[in-house]
This record gives sequence, C-alpha cells and structure tokens, in this order.
Amino acid sequence: MVLISKGISFQAGRHVLIGFTVERYENWHPADITSAMKKLGVNFIELNRRVFAELPAVLPQLKGMHTAFHLPIVDDDGWDFSCIAYQAQIDETIAILNRHHRDMGLQHIISHPSEAKFASKPIDSSEEMLFAALSRLQIPVFFENIANYSPQEFRAFYERAKASLGDRCAGMCYDAAHFQVSGYDPVEQFHAFRDIIRCAHLSDCRGDEDAHLPFGAGGDLPLGQLLQAMQKSGYSGPITLEIRPPSSGELRAYIRSYMTLLRQLDPARYHQARLRLVLLRPLLSYLSR
Ligand SMILES: [Zn+2]
Repeated sequence: MVLISKGISFQAGRHVLIGFTVERYENWHPADITSAMKKLGVNFIELNRRVFAELPAVLPQLKGMHTAFHLPIVDDDGWDFSCIAYQAQIDETIAILNRHHRDMGLQHIISHPSEAKFASKPIDSSEEMLFAALSRLQIPVFFENIANYSPQEFRAFYERAKASLGDRCAGMCYDAAHFQVSGYDPVEQFHAFRDIIRCAHLSDCRGDEDAHLPFGAGGDLPLGQLLQAMQKSGYSGPITLEIRPPSSGELRAYIRSYMTLLRQLDPARYHQARLRLVLLRPLLSYLSR
C-alpha cells in the first residue's frame, strides 16, 4: 500500500466494475489475492462458497470493494439450490449470505438454472425448490445463461423465474463463453438479451470447451467485437473475468486480461492502472515467482 501515492485516488461506483473470481489458488490465500487486486485498483470481485471457510481473513479485505456471490453449481460443488437432498447445505448457505451480505459488500447473487438433470449421475431436483430457496435471500439474484440451455430455453426459464420471484429476480448474468461453446454467436446473443443483462462473465474458450482461458491465449471468443458492442450499448454493469491461468506464475495473464477490458471500457482507469502496475512491479514479480 505504501507504494501507492495519494494522488492516484480510486472511486468505485463511478466506473464500470471489473474484477475476478477470487478463491484459494495454489498457495495463495484469497485474502492475499484480494489485497493484491485492490492495490492494482480492482474494485469488484466475485466469491463463491469456498470463501466461507476463509471469511474471517477475507472480510477485512472486502472493505470498499463491491462483490458478487456465485451460488454452488453441480459441476464444481456436486449440488445446486434445486437439489432436493441438499436442503441442509442450502439452508446454511442462505443463512451465511443473509448474515454477512453487508460486510461482504454483496451487490448481487448469481444463480444458474437447475443443472441437476445434466449431471453424470442425475440428482433429484425441482425448479420450484430453486425459486423457493432464492426467495429467502435478501439480495437481488441474476440468472446466468448456461451451455445446456438454448437461448430460447434460457429466456423461457428467465420468464418463469421472474413470475416466481418478482423483483428479487433482477436480471441476467451474461456469460459470453457459455454461448460461444454451445455454437451461438455471443455478440448476437448480447444484443438479443440486452434488455435484461445486468452483469457479465467473460473468459476465452476453444472449440466446445469452456476452458476459462485468459484473453490473447489462442481462444475463439470475438472479444473485440463483443467489447465494442458492450461499449456502444452503454453497458455499465459489473464484469467478472472468470479465467483460470493454465499454470502458476501466470499472474500476468490475469493482469493482461484485466487491462484489455479496462482499455476498451474505462480508458481513464486504464491509465491509472498502468501507473499502478509500474509501482507494483516488485510485488508482481514476487507473486509470480
Ligand atoms: Zn456460472
């Protein structure tokens, strides 16, 4: 922090929120990752259930940050809010989120439609259960398009969510890679869903694999066209970079992707971040060892 002069003041809220999914990464504790990101000027992070065990250390780092929380998904967690046998885990997640949403800086929750029926071993589930659980959260919910749903199926799902949850269903989380890997043009789909898009997940991907690649690493996503479409449409919601660098020491891949977005969407902050990068060079080379 010492390295950052008072001259580079950072005002969240006046700019597009661009950030990362933060969870333990190899030997890096999420509190340390969050702290490093704040030094770079990152004003937004997305959390998931894996942060709960680390909350005491992470909460102090979240002061002044805006956050989103991604609910459990079948692929990563083995269950989601629609899974009938997981009521205890669902209740516990809701209790923690409702207790801590203010100190976590939570702005919104991200939920997928139920994916239980697509699991390798199908799990008993119901959409009513998903909506009933979500209605108990005190935070607005954004629904994310998933690769298993066509755009038409997702729109129909969203309408059912809206009918069930009313204002608690606050918009869509647009995931560009989920459209791309299932054969839909993400730019066309951005326009098609623009009326309900309130936040976005961006990462690059290859073929039909949702590889969570950083930008500029040989993926297929038409990023330039997409960022242009977002900018032209006046998009100003939060953007989460959902990238998983292929190996450790790839911190620069995170930063390059972040800078690519800033440059296009928030040029003023891009210049501030470049300055910060120079100041942070010793820290970055330490973290990239
Ligand atoms: Zn997701």
